[in-house]
Amino acid sequence: MKLAVAYATDVGRVREGNEDNLLVDEHLGVFAVADGMGGHRGGEVASSTAVEALRAAIAAGQTIDAAITTANTAVIERASGDPTLTGMGTTLTALHPLAGTRLLIGHVGDSRAYRLRDGELERLTEDHSLVEELVRDGRITREQAEVHPQRNIVTRALGVDADVEIDLLTIAVQTGDRLLICSDGLTSMVREREVARLLGTGDNMQEIAEHLVQKAVDNGGEDNVTVVVIHVLEADPAHDDAALVTDAQNDPSAPEVDGRTAVQPIVATPLASAPSADLAAPPSRNEPIEPTVVSDSELPRRRRRWWRVFGKATLAILPILLVLGAGAVALHWVTYRDYYVGTAHGSVAVFKGDPDGIVSWWNPKLQWVVTGLPVSRLAEASRAQVQAHGGMCHTESRRAVEACVARLQRLPAAP
Ligand code: MN
Repeated sequence: MKLAVAYATDVGRVREGNEDNLLVDEHLGVFAVADGMGGHRGGEVASSTAVEALRAAIAAGQTIDAAITTANTAVIERASGDPTLTGMGTTLTALHPLAGTRLLIGHVGDSRAYRLRDGELERLTEDHSLVEELVRDGRITREQAEVHPQRNIVTRALGVDADVEIDLLTIAVQTGDRLLICSDGLTSMVREREVARLLGTGDNMQEIAEHLVQKAVDNGGEDNVTVVVIHVLEADPAHDDAALVTDAQNDPSAPEVDGRTAVQPIVATPLASAPSADLAAPPSRNEPIEPTVVSDSELPRRRRRWWRVFGKATLAILPILLVLGAGAVALHWVTYRDYYVGTAHGSVAVFKGDPDGIVSWWNPKLQWVVTGLPVSRLAEASRAQVQAHGGMCHTESRRAVEACVARLQRLPAAP
């Protein structure tokens, strides 16, 4: 396949920096546009990290979808090493020509790939954006989507989740086709009819790239705008990989859309789609992501895990603890409510407790006070009483037990 490739990018009229990035490597045969997002320098770093990692991965022999997964990992790792980059992300739309007439497209986000053939512009990629979902669900029209206030919110991006879902497409080209990869800074400023006209006008691809970008800037330039334009100079079916073509044609699950074989989206790893939607808020380019967004959202996750393990268990046993605690207090009060007089180390002593015991095998008692009165000095009858099981003067009243002891001390001593 012979190609003529050109590119252009512009910061636009509103943004302070250009967070778009692009990759044109004709030797490796990989072309890409990345549109970064994130506060501080985040967007710029995310998009450049992604395209550099993509190029290195393709150079190392990885397939396009594996290379995009590698790029995703690179963006996540780059962000984790620098707190000011936390929360950054990027779109990535990459095009990888095969021998013959086939092209692979790997795609995440709301940058786009188009093919122009015989004046007809066909969008090859599906935006991973909120408004695209609303259009698909029939809740807004395509026209409403173009001016929707949340049209910048992407639902998929690199750098957000380790399990990124990548759309992988195989398309067929023929000699004379023109391809365009662009950031949303072009398509949000220039209508597709105008894009088609400019892409098809003239043969100087560099001029075409610059005209497209200039048109977006002239129309307001509200966003960074980046285009890679490719003219298919020669696409020879004789060089097609027979296995690839046959597979694509025979595979009933691969719907043929106007000559484009829409391959099922490749899920980079199992369980890719479920967690990413919930855990990470889709980055918005209207509201630059604060560097703390992701770490803030991880904090409640950690708290939730703590709560799952300890909090719920504590809550479950709390009533039991309360009942046990109240029971212990009540038992203590009942057990040591009474006073009685007995003996300790040969002297008369006052005990708190129930001499009959709470139950037959448990007879708790607290020695409350030891008087200076030796048991040996008590009269025979009194001595027998204080030494008997149950002691004497068993009473709830402290005053009564004190009177009892005083009476013993006044009684005549043993002879
Ligand atoms: Mn953009």
